[in-house]
Amino acid sequence: MSRLLKPARVLLLGPPGCGKGTQTSRLLKRFGISGMSSGDLLRQHIKDKTEIGSLASSIIKQGKLLPDDVMVKIIESELRSRSWLSPSQSWLLDGFPRTEPQASLLDSQILSPASANLNFIVELQVPHEIILDRIANRLVHVPSGRVYNLTYNPPKVEGKDDVTGEPLSRRPDDDPEIFRQRLVEFDKLTKPLVTYYENANKDAVFEVAGETSDIIFPQLESEMIKRFGEKAE
Ligand code: ATP
Ligand code: MG
Repeated sequence: MSRLLKPARVLLLGPPGCGKGTQTSRLLKRFGISGMSSGDLLRQHIKDKTEIGSLASSIIKQGKLLPDDVMVKIIESELRSRSWLSPSQSWLLDGFPRTEPQASLLDSQILSPASANLNFIVELQVPHEIILDRIANRLVHVPSGRVYNLTYNPPKVEGKDDVTGEPLSRRPDDDPEIFRQRLVEFDKLTKPLVTYYENANKDAVFEVAGETSDIIFPQLESEMIKRFGEKAE
């Protein structure tokens, strides 16, 4: 159950490796809301060897983005099947929308008709050097999307997920060459989104900067409480 007084529909924006996944899990736990990561959805498709999975795998390997229409369809059906298209639901999106066409399709065709537009858009700003260092040390548990870092946040048992004990893996797209390409795509396609949302709904946009997730999280936490209120225990 959500511990917020008002429904929060949150989008986390920021460069690859800036810690969106980490902030997402901490926010979900802290406020009892649900989240969806487009990258995790695609990795699950790849694991399940679906048709979308095979398209995703070839594109992700190059550090490129999937076509907007494909992404919008995947996300729309996911939003519907989770019954999130209602003004009373609280949820958080990580990784979608990621381009301006995705954002405007999401707004006009999916969220506006449900009176469920995004009301908190967070731009995470993390220095470049920090990001590159993190990626070199990152491990993931694919089924849950849990992220570990060999330096800051190692798993309790080497190479194993803390919760399930299942093996952890490196993301193939964390290879330095591909990662560079992902940063290029981010600058070209995702950065303009901040301007889009500043024009569409400036009050909802919140920028937060910091070198570590521990510095960023408390700022996000207090901003959420300020905007949405917290239920008494
Ligand atoms: P990180 O997980 O480190 O924050 P990221 O945000 O770049 O980095 P994911 O969100 O996990 O990584 O996405 C991995 C890949 O999945 C992307 O590089 C892209 O190919 C594809 N992808 C995910 N979301 C979208 C989207 N909204 N539009 C197009 N492609 C996407
Ligand atoms: Mg991610």
